[in-house]
Amino acid sequence: MKNPYIEDAKKGLVHTYNRFPVVLEKGEGVYVYDAEGKKYLDFAAGIAVSSLGYGNKEFNDALKAQIDCLIHSSNLYYNTTCGKAAQALLRVTQMDRVFFTNSGTEAIEGALKAARKYAYQKQTGRYEFIAMKDSFHGRSMGALSVTEHEAYRTPFEPLIPGVSFAEYNNLDSVRELVTDRTCAIILEPLQGEGGINTADEAFMKGIRKLCDEEGILMICDEIQCGMGRTGTMFAWQNYGTKPDIMTMAKAIGNGVPVGAFAMTEDVARHSLEPGDHGTTYGGNPFVCAAVAKTVEIFERERLTEHVQEMGAYLTEKLTRLQAACGSITEVRGKGLIQGIRLNKPVAETVQAALREGLLIISARSDVIRLVPPLVIEKEHIDELIEKLKKVL
Ligand SMILES: *Cc1c(COP(=O)(O)O)cnc(C)c1O
Repeated sequence: MKNPYIEDAKKGLVHTYNRFPVVLEKGEGVYVYDAEGKKYLDFAAGIAVSSLGYGNKEFNDALKAQIDCLIHSSNLYYNTTCGKAAQALLRVTQMDRVFFTNSGTEAIEGALKAARKYAYQKQTGRYEFIAMKDSFHGRSMGALSVTEHEAYRTPFEPLIPGVSFAEYNNLDSVRELVTDRTCAIILEPLQGEGGINTADEAFMKGIRKLCDEEGILMICDEIQCGMGRTGTMFAWQNYGTKPDIMTMAKAIGNGVPVGAFAMTEDVARHSLEPGDHGTTYGGNPFVCAAVAKTVEIFERERLTEHVQEMGAYLTEKLTRLQAACGSITEVRGKGLIQGIRLNKPVAETVQAALREGLLIISARSDVIRLVPPLVIEKEHIDELIEKLKKVL
C-alpha cells in the first residue's frame, strides 16, 4: 500500500537522495514524530545538527524575536546580531576572525580560498592542498576536490587541480606529499562521513608541527565533529593543535542554515580583502541570532561536560552490547559521535530501526553513526540500547 504522505512529499523533487520511507513533521526534546504520529527516538539529529534537541523554548523565542526585529540586511551594512554571534563563536573557537556562510560546503570553499590568497599575497608560489583519504568536505566543485570518495567525484571531473590525498592517521604518508608548493593541509579531527575515524594525538600534533616547519597552513574541518560533539567545544581542542583556519556549520545554528570559517589574525591580515569573497545571506541577523543563542546556551548549560558524561555512558553501554551481540565488530568515536561497526549490511539495520521507532544513520557501508542531540540523558541511551538489541 502506498503511503499518501510520501507520495505528496516527494512530488517534484530532483531524485538526489535515497530517502527513508518516513515523512517527518515535528520534534519535541530528543524525539521526532512522522506525519502519521509515530514517535522516533532521534540518534541522528538531522546529521549532527539539532544539538539542543527540538522545541527549546529559549532558542525558539530568540528566533521569533529576531524575526520581528530584522531578518535580513545584506553584508553592505553591519548589524548588531552578527557582531554578537561573531564574538560568541570566536570565544569558543579561540580563533581571531570569522566569516559567516550559509552551509558547511561554503565554509570549506571560503577556507580554501583564504589559504590560496594567503599564499598569493605572500608570493610563496604555493597552491597545493593535501587532504585525507576517507574525507568528506562537501559537494561543490572546490569542496569535492578535497573530498576523497570516488563515487562522489568521478562524474564531475576534472576537479580543482593541485590536491593529493594522504592516509588518515599516517603522518609519513602526509610528509611524503609535501612539496614546496603545498599551501595547506585540510583534515577533520574526527572523520564523520568517512566512518567515525578519530585522529590519533601523534597524528594531529605531527601535522601541526609539520605545518609550522614547512610554512603550511593547517585547516581543521569541524563541521560535523565540532560544537561540543566530542566533549570539547571543538575537536582540535582535545589535542591542543590550534589550526590556522577552521570550518564549522551543522550544530552552530541548531538547525538554522549557517556555517562559518574562522582564522587566526595572521591569516586574516594576509588573505581575504574586500572584493575577494562574499555572500548575500551569509551572517544575516536571523541566522546570527541562532548562533549567538546556541553558544549562550552551550556555555551556560555546560553542555561539553554533559557530553563527556553521556559519551562515557554510551561507550560503556555499546561495549556491553558488543559483548552480547555477535554482529558488532567495533565501537569507536568520542563523546556523542560514536560508531558501531557491523559485520552485516548497515542499510537493513537502519531500516529495521525505523520500524522500531529509532532514527540512526550510517557512515560508509559498514558503520552505524550515532550523533544524537547533545541534550540526551541516560534514559535515552538505555532506550537506544533496548531498541538496538531488538534490531541486531
Ligand atoms: C556535512 C559536512 C560538510 C558539508 O556541509 P553542508 O552544510 O552539508 O554543506 C563538510 N564537512 C564535513 C566534515 C561535514 O560533515
